Amino acid sequence: MSDLNYDLGDIIEMKKEHACHLSKEWKIIRMGADIRVKCLGCQSSVLMPRSKFDKRIKKIVRKADGSVPE
Ligand SMILES: [Zn+2]
Repeated sequence: MSDLNYDLGDIIEMKKEHACHLSKEWKIIRMGADIRVKCLGCQSSVLMPRSKFDKRIKKIVRKADGSVPE
């Protein structure tokens, strides 16, 4: 379980960049047992179980309301 308090609409950074090599940043576009994130580099989306997402997330870049977490 990640201790990051991510939520729908947040921009997050993954530990590894996407296969497109354009960006490490993703937007959370669906939250549930599975999480769907959209690559900000190529706009493609990926669905993954929350457990997998928790292992891959590095940090929250920007919250959905535009604020930047400490
Ligand atoms: Zn991409």
